[in-house]
Order: sequence, then structure tokens, then C-alpha cells
Amino acid sequence: MTEQDKLIISENIAMLKCPVCGDRMSVQGNKSIVCLNNHCFDIAKKGYVNLLQNHGNSKYDKKLFQSRNIISQTGFFDPLIEAVVQMMGKIISDNGSISDNRSISALDLKTKSIKILDAGCGEGFHLARIINGLNDQEHQEYQEYLETAHLLGVGIDISKGGIQIAAKNYQDIFWLVADLAKTPFMDQQFDVILNILSPANYGEFKRIIGDEGILIKVVPDSDYLKELRTAFYQETDKELYSNKMVLDLFSKNFHIIDTQKVNYEFKLNSEELHHLIKMTPLSWGVSEEKMQEVSEIGINRVTGAFTIIAGMPKKLDFKKNR
Ligand SMILES: [Zn+2]
Repeated sequence: MTEQDKLIISENIAMLKCPVCGDRMSVQGNKSIVCLNNHCFDIAKKGYVNLLQNHGNSKYDKKLFQSRNIISQTGFFDPLIEAVVQMMGKIISDNGSISDNRSISALDLKTKSIKILDAGCGEGFHLARIINGLNDQEHQEYQEYLETAHLLGVGIDISKGGIQIAAKNYQDIFWLVADLAKTPFMDQQFDVILNILSPANYGEFKRIIGDEGILIKVVPDSDYLKELRTAFYQETDKELYSNKMVLDLFSKNFHIIDTQKVNYEFKLNSEELHHLIKMTPLSWGVSEEKMQEVSEIGINRVTGAFTIIAGMPKKLDFKKNR
């Protein structure tokens, strides 16, 4: 564990609560964090904290995340990441003058740190790239709003395999193995919650997001990886996919303040196709033979198709109307 890892944990320990009893936590030596009732959790040598009590099996194993990291490094997600960065930058630089005039003061305090949680961060690539993108001088239209703010990235995932890769590859981010359904955070900790190609838990999101915080969710569109979907599921009902239910659920919980669609084609070679098949939930339940067959037929371009939705918590209305 590096000095930097230690610093990130000790500086941010106050945002954590014990996932068992809800008490505040403190760092104990170099190896663990502990609550007032002595529930104890490991700090891994690689610098992340494991807040899961029982390490159940997740479908997202380490191999899957290794494949996803390889696909990420090819640039497959770059147009999506760039669009998320632009949207976040725009919301921040609008500086409270978004359509309904709701103030985003949480993001406007230039000297404070802006806390960005990636809920379901997997192997960490998206969060690391988004923070780099926001810090990038090229995005000058909102740079002045960010230059004195410190962006703190916090990534959680239930997969230890994913977090291990994240902690190894991306420094300066607080990485935690934790359950999205019962996050180990005190109330109202975050200015931005990212939820990228991962299931949501709106109850928890509303609890841990600041009153004027922003949730940014990325969902796949029906054309996402349609080439793979067709190859795997031709003439079955799984060939069709709709994200309407996902969008409806979002708008029940958060006021939508912006949406954007991102569509592009991406060229890939046969090795990249292999990793793409390994990383996508589309291939779960598909037989090894079928996967092999699709690998061999070869698909040399695939479609990236996503909807990015930004929203603010609806609990605001409740408070205003009281
Ligand atoms: Zn406890």
C-alpha cells in the first residue's frame, strides 16, 4: 500500500459508516478499519477497503473485468466517456442556470472537493477516465469552474476482482468493495453519482446524494452490440431489448435535467472480439459452442449505443412543499 493510498483512506474515513451497525468508522493501523462496535474490515495491500461481510460469488468475476479492461483500453468506450465528461462539464459550468433554475451550489463551491461516486464501477476505467477528462485543460469552456476544486473519485463494486484491477491501475481514487444495495456511506455524501452500465439502487442513491447533487446514469440502447445480440439470439425474444423500463424507473426517482444519445461504430480484431464476448452480460447463458462459433464467424465492427441521463433527486420537492 502506498502513502497515497493511506492518505486517501484516512482523509475520507468520515464518509464511511459500518455496513453492519451503521456506526462511524476509524482506521486501525495499516490493515483494517473498525467501527465503535468492533466490526472490522480489511484494508488490502493494494490499497482498497473490503466492506463485504460474506464474499459471495458474483457473476462478475475477475476474468470478466480483465476482458472489460482490455476492451476499455482499445478505446471502445471513448465516445461514451467523452459525452459523459461534456455533459458533466456543462452542468457544472451552467452554474445553477439549468432549465428550471435550480441552483447547483454543491458544485459551485470552488474551494471544496467535488465528490464523485461511481456506483458499480467494475474495474474502474470509466471513473478514472472521467476524472481525467474533467481535469483536462482542453475542456476550457468549464475549466474555470473546476480549476480550484478538487475532484475526489470514489468507486464501489461488489466484485472484489473488479476492485483489485481498479486499485492496481488507477491511483488517487478511493476504491471499495461494497454492496450497492447497502452502501457503506453516511447520508448525503456525494455531489455526483455515476451509474454506468450497472444496476441502480435509487433508495440508496437518494440517501447518499447531496440535496443538489446529480445522478448520471448510462444505459445501453437497443442497438448496443446488436451484432452480437443477433449472432447469439437470432429469432429468439432475447434478440429484442428495450431500455424503456429502466428510463421509467429513473424518472420516478429523479428529475431528469438532461439526456443524450451516443451512437457509433467500432472496429475490432478477432482477439478484441473474444474479450468483448467475455465481458458482456449478453453472453451469459450462451453455450461455449455458440460463443466459439460466433468468435470464428468473426464480427469486425460493433455498435456502441447508449443513453446518458442526468437527474436530481426528487426528495427536493418533498422538502420544498413542507
Ligand atoms: Zn459496526
